[in-house]
Amino acid sequence: MKKILIANRGEIACRVIRTAHKMGIETVAVYSEADRHAPHVTMAGEAVLIGPAASNQSYLNGERIIEAARVTGAEGIHPGYGFLSENARFARMVETAGLIFIGPGPHAIELMGSKLASKEAIRDFGIPLVPGTEEAISDAAEAKRIAREIGFPILIKASAGGGGKGMRIVHSEADLESQMERAVSEAVSAFGDGSVFIEKYIGNPKHIEIQILADTHGNTLYLFERECSVQRRHQKVVEEAPSAVLSDALRKRMGEDAVKVARACDYVGAGTVEFLYEDGNYYFLEMNTRLQVEHPVTELITGIDLVEQQILIARGQPLSLQQEDVTISGHAVELRVYAEDPLDNFLPSVGTLTRYRRPDGPNVRLDDGYREGMEVPIHYDPMLAKLIAWGHTREAAIRTLSEAIDAYEIEGVATTLPFGKFVLTHEAFLDGSFTTHFVDEHYTPDKLRSSREENARLAALLATSLFEKNHRKLTPIEHAGGRQWWENRK
Ligand code: ADP
Ligand code: ADP
Ligand code: MG
Repeated sequence: MKKILIANRGEIACRVIRTAHKMGIETVAVYSEADRHAPHVTMAGEAVLIGPAASNQSYLNGERIIEAARVTGAEGIHPGYGFLSENARFARMVETAGLIFIGPGPHAIELMGSKLASKEAIRDFGIPLVPGTEEAISDAAEAKRIAREIGFPILIKASAGGGGKGMRIVHSEADLESQMERAVSEAVSAFGDGSVFIEKYIGNPKHIEIQILADTHGNTLYLFERECSVQRRHQKVVEEAPSAVLSDALRKRMGEDAVKVARACDYVGAGTVEFLYEDGNYYFLEMNTRLQVEHPVTELITGIDLVEQQILIARGQPLSLQQEDVTISGHAVELRVYAEDPLDNFLPSVGTLTRYRRPDGPNVRLDDGYREGMEVPIHYDPMLAKLIAWGHTREAAIRTLSEAIDAYEIEGVATTLPFGKFVLTHEAFLDGSFTTHFVDEHYTPDKLRSSREENARLAALLATSLFEKNHRKLTPIEHAGGRQWWENRK
């Protein structure tokens, strides 16, 4: 593979292009009419316009994308995440066109794309599952019987669900029927598949997931865990690696179970096995058959470039690492910088980036896909960037990320930057005890406002105390027209 096409936009397209260039591979970007001036278009060696702004006419148009690969002579297609990355039909089309899909085979995508089928596939491996139904359920009476057995609250989930969508919590039997009807119709409209199932609602879990890598020669490794419990709308905002709570023994057990999940679907490439964790127990949730948004925290603690590994694997090379070679060094924390207003229910905030200044400095990584003056289009996911920091310790990583948030200037749209600061200074985050209810339990817009005021007050106090400290070293030398002039005696 000497040339690859990146079937994506934004920060992930830029991130893939960067590694490809590092490996001496030429790149082709695709873009919609809304993205003519986007950084991924200028970064790539070549770029092909594939259609209007709407994703279903551009970034989701598999035929146009494959045509763009043909025209430019790209041999492989990297799908990034979102869009066509978990579309088995697209992966198959790419193969049929004689191109390489940089990701797992269509069979693994299909199997793991269905939460029900994935549970079925791993049933005999002794991996703990969240208690629930093994098949899609459509009969309300049957659902009631099962829910009573499991015990309320329960979760009705779309088997084809993703991106935190298609989930409904049911607290009592009286609500079950109506919630089930809603869940089915939502699943049909969002995923074109109305299959829903019941899962026990785990009361206060952490979301902990394991990164895996598998080559075409039967080698599968785990690259430890990421803790992703800080979520809004069941979607992650802050992630870290390693988790502040896992013991080495549990880390190894979860890692080995994740490898079993990958083997169960003949997985090839980079993938993630998600678990819920509560009181020392963990339960398989689902597998994501792609590069994950939060993959950089794993890269920073292991020193492994996951996109490079994806490409090497797609070229058919065996993994050059053994499990013993993969070790954890230090700690990494990531904040997803969304164009969303944390003071208004995290609603998307569109507009023009009138000011955009990147933070930098040692141990800070910024994966972004925007620059000053650009408009944030309404057509796509509102994530602007990911800000990631590394440190020898968790505290150091948190401190560095916090400083980087302060130095990152974005004006024109509201962002999750102040929310990130709120999280990084919150007791429950600092002591590691937080769960997926962090936002529900600890966050309100008012608390964000007052913590910002508190931060401003502290900053002012600090400035005053510094001023006073300097002040003592200063003597007035002149009083002119009410103005004081100072001279530093030192
Ligand atoms: P991850 O699982 O990698 O942490 P997310 O769940 O946030 O990431 O999803 C990754 C990206 O893919 C996001 O941009 C999200 O909006 C998008 N996405 C994932 N699944 C779906 C889906 N089923 N429908 C629409 N968008 C999705
Ligand atoms: P998606 O495909 O949308 O990523 P997941 O099954 O991975 O769906 O769940 C996303 C999030 O929803 C989890 O990280 C967790 O916060 C919550 N969740 C999912 N299943 C359960 C459950 N059974 N009990 C409690 N919370 C759950
Ligand atoms: Mg998930």
